[in-house]
Amino acid sequence: MKSHNAGYVSNPAILSPNSTISDLDELRSSRGFTSACITESGLSRAPLLGLVTTRDVDLIRDRSTSLSEVMTATSDLVVGFSTKSLKENESILIESKRGKLPIVDENGCLIGLLTRVNVKECLSRPPSGLPSLDTSGKLLCGAAVGTRDTDRIRAQSLADTGVNAIILDSSQGDSIYQLEMIKFLKNNVPSVDIIAGNVVTQHQARRLLEAGADGLRVGMGSGSICTTQEVCAVGRGQATAVYKVGQIAKQFDVPIIADGGIQNSGHIVKALTLGGSVAMCGSMFSGSTEAPGHYFYQDGVRVKKYRGMGSLDAMKKGSDSRYLSETGHLKIAQGVSGTVRDKGSVRTMIPYLIHGVKQGFQDLGVDSVGKAHAALSAGTMTMEVRSGAAQQEGGIHDMHSYSKVPW
Ligand code: NAD
Repeated sequence: MKSHNAGYVSNPAILSPNSTISDLDELRSSRGFTSACITESGLSRAPLLGLVTTRDVDLIRDRSTSLSEVMTATSDLVVGFSTKSLKENESILIESKRGKLPIVDENGCLIGLLTRVNVKECLSRPPSGLPSLDTSGKLLCGAAVGTRDTDRIRAQSLADTGVNAIILDSSQGDSIYQLEMIKFLKNNVPSVDIIAGNVVTQHQARRLLEAGADGLRVGMGSGSICTTQEVCAVGRGQATAVYKVGQIAKQFDVPIIADGGIQNSGHIVKALTLGGSVAMCGSMFSGSTEAPGHYFYQDGVRVKKYRGMGSLDAMKKGSDSRYLSETGHLKIAQGVSGTVRDKGSVRTMIPYLIHGVKQGFQDLGVDSVGKAHAALSAGTMTMEVRSGAAQQEGGIHDMHSYSKVPW
């Protein structure tokens, strides 16, 4: 994240001149890349030697041929420069009519890639908002840790790499372990913001706020893959949790993240108006092109795997040191694993979500999250419980058939 240059592919496929065509074939099947930049070491930030694309290799029978024999050398390539703006590099790509433009720094070292496909995608979408940057112009970045002793080392390393926020990730944040971790982080990495949680009551929140938390994550058992409320009888209605914790967090001037249960743009509006400064979405973005995992077909539907971190599946894959299973005894699942439908690219989804939220705020008559919170405090914006009948009447009704296309 901290070395990412907005607008560029900052993690392009890179091979060394001694790699072979079959290494490129392997890259194609594992990561879907059909071309690779060639650097001296096979790593980023090393001198760029060339570029190899499908056309360089598709007709060569001997797949053990080294890439240095088939690549287009840097001397014959058009390259962009890290010292130029994104717009200037885009112009070089467009005028050269090339498919890919490796970006090099003043020493000729590879720092990223600009592709025709990226530029085309940007042109076909509404302009994106400005990225959230830190004081040195790098992307803001947070990272999660647990509350075990080893997590202190991890937190320190994260702080050393420049993360802006460390998130203490637990289903029940109001624990002695988390209070001690906040104390440790405040003493050892004071420049990093600490986001504690999860909590749903003012009682839980107060302890973490008094310990020095700079932000709180709110929600227990409201995620789509979460079974905490069922297994442990612990949790709270998400809207109530956000509202109640928001009230106490305001007294400490600390923002809260509404975490869990977001299914649509309306839920984001509710989270932000009830006291949240951020809505955290998991399942909403799962199944998108950009989400981790490979697509496959289940009952004729294109899906990706999605799992809760409290599911047996996730525990078996590494989070089990956090559960009671370390001693070989019990694994208590607090989540499920399953599949979600292909939702296409977040680049298509997000502009519609943003606009839905803006429309909601317009209808409420407030033009910022701060003003929504102020209206809630002043009582000019009120919420009321909707009966089951009201919810049914407010939904789609009296249709013979319909299709609900979100965008
Ligand atoms: P956790 O690491 O907080 O807790 C796992 C177990 O380890 C608990 O029994 C805890 O008491 C124990 N533990 C933690 N620190 C310890 C220490 N220093 N010494 C001894 N024991 C210690 O993790 P979790 O609450 O099981 O959550 C795991 C993941 O699942 C997280 O990603 C969490 O966000 C997610 N989850 C979230 C929810 C939710 O509703 N928001 C619910 C279930 C799971």
